Amino acid sequence: MLVEGVHRITIRLLGLPYVNAFLVDGEDGLILIDTGLPHREGRVLRTVESIGKRPEALRHIVITHHHADHTGSLAALVARTGAKVFVHSLDAPIVRGDRPSPGPTRETAVSRAVLRLGRWRGLTAIAPTPVDFELDDGQELPIAGGIRVVHTPGHTAGHVSLLLPSKRLLIVGDAAGALFGRVGPPIGMFTEDMMRAKHSIRRLAELDGFDTACFGHGTVVEDHAAVRFRRLVERLAA
Ligand SMILES: [Zn+2]
Ligand SMILES: [Zn+2]
Repeated sequence: MLVEGVHRITIRLLGLPYVNAFLVDGEDGLILIDTGLPHREGRVLRTVESIGKRPEALRHIVITHHHADHTGSLAALVARTGAKVFVHSLDAPIVRGDRPSPGPTRETAVSRAVLRLGRWRGLTAIAPTPVDFELDDGQELPIAGGIRVVHTPGHTAGHVSLLLPSKRLLIVGDAAGALFGRVGPPIGMFTEDMMRAKHSIRRLAELDGFDTACFGHGTVVEDHAAVRFRRLVERLAA
C-alpha cells in the first residue's frame, strides 16, 4: 500500500515489471485506474481478493488513455465485475473500437520491435469496450473521496491525470514517466504530440494538493513529488 487505501498493481511483461495499474479502496467501492496489458485480469482480481473484496466490489474503472498497456484487460474486467468505465471524450472512440489506435509516431527499429513483440504475445488486439462516462478537464468524480480530472493531452489527445486531494496523490498515467525513479517526459515514439505533452507536464507542476505521484511506467515517487515535476519543467526549458 503506498498511501492509505491505494494499492499498486504491477503488470509484468516477459518477467519484467512493465506497467502499473492502481486500485483505490473507497467507501463507495473499489476504483481501478488503468487495467494493464491484455490477459492480466486475473492479476488484477487477485489483488482485489488479497484485500478481502469480491470482484463485484470493483465499481468504477478510470482509464488514463487508450494505449493497449492501460486498456488491455478492460473488457475482461468489465465482464467479470460490471464496473462502470470512465474515459476522456477524445480517447473514448478508440476504447469503444469506433476509431483505430494511432500507431507509433516514429518508425524506428525499436518501435517495430515493440510492435512485433506485442503481436507475438497477443497484446495488440484490444477488445472494444463500451464507455459509460466521458471525462473532461476539471470534472470532480464523486468517488473515493473525490477525484479531480486533469486533461493532460500530448501522449494521447485524451490523456487524463487524476488528482486525489484527500490522499494527496496524483496519478499521472503516461503524461510523465518515472523510470528508475527519475521523473521524465513520456516515451517519444508512443507520444502523439510531444509539445503538448511538455505543456501538460507544466500544468501538473502547477497543481496543488499532492505529495505522492504514481506513474504508468516506473516507480512511485512518495514524497515531494510536486517538486520533482517543477524540476522536470526546468530541465525541459533548459
Ligand atoms: Zn501510453
Ligand atoms: Zn503505458
